[in-house]
Amino acid sequence: MQVTKTVAETRALVKSWRKEGKTVGLVPTMGYLHEGHASLIRKCREENDIVVVSVFVNPTQFGPNEDLEAYPRDFERDNALCKSLGADLIFHPEPEEMYQDPCAFVSIETLSENLCGKTRPIHFRGVCTVVSKLFHIVAPDKAYFGQKDAQQLAIIRKMVRDLNFDIEIVGCPIIREEDGLAKSSRNTYLNPQERQAALCLSRAVKRGQELIAPGMDSEAVLKEMRAVIEAEPLARIDYVSMVDALTMRDVEKVDRDVLVAMAVYIGKTRLIDNFSYEV
Ligand code: AMP
Repeated sequence: MQVTKTVAETRALVKSWRKEGKTVGLVPTMGYLHEGHASLIRKCREENDIVVVSVFVNPTQFGPNEDLEAYPRDFERDNALCKSLGADLIFHPEPEEMYQDPCAFVSIETLSENLCGKTRPIHFRGVCTVVSKLFHIVAPDKAYFGQKDAQQLAIIRKMVRDLNFDIEIVGCPIIREEDGLAKSSRNTYLNPQERQAALCLSRAVKRGQELIAPGMDSEAVLKEMRAVIEAEPLARIDYVSMVDALTMRDVEKVDRDVLVAMAVYIGKTRLIDNFSYEV
């Protein structure tokens, strides 16, 4: 397995693989890898000749008061995990390699405005910009994203369609801890009491999945889910919403494929979870 830090080295390597007729898969990550990331890398390993993992804590997707500095990093561990999963290359650039006083950004409108976009107004612009850059640098055949970040996945799919990237986007299911908590690099911020409290998210997901049925009022489902979270004193709801699976706009009834998504603060840590429902 190789590690590159520059765009030029990465391009040269990918070019040499392409010359040999190999297919290339990309797994974009911010590092501090866990089983959720590993599931994407495994799927990528199954479906491509070459597996590229990017490890880059992308500054443009963090707001001014967010956790860019505090975001956990452990490249040695990430390196070992990627190697054990059979990755061929980790692209691990410094921020200065990726951004030199940038003026070009990629924004996907409408889909970025609701849910996490309300509290994190520049977040998806940063995500779409860095993912576009990675797509140009690595030029993969396929790229792998987790359903854990369901709004991000919907936005990336739309970006690929709207901007004609010749890349297949593969969505992968949410990987959870044994007790239900969705795996996340940010779970490391939680103290033991908060870790216990964080279970209210997956409990609310479960409650929503039990209740939801075609034709129901969305509020009937959301009200019950909110009650599960509100019963937890350490939790504070950012949003619990039901949206059209494609447009990310709020829906009043379960009359199409929907995404039921939430963001909840546990202490200072903002966690997300969701489920999809097809009518
Ligand atoms: P991140 O490093 O948090 O930016 O995540 C990189 C990729 O891994 C994204 O496509 C995430 O959706 C995906 N991912 C993160 N956590 C999970 C999880 N628990 N299950 C599945 N995919 C995940």
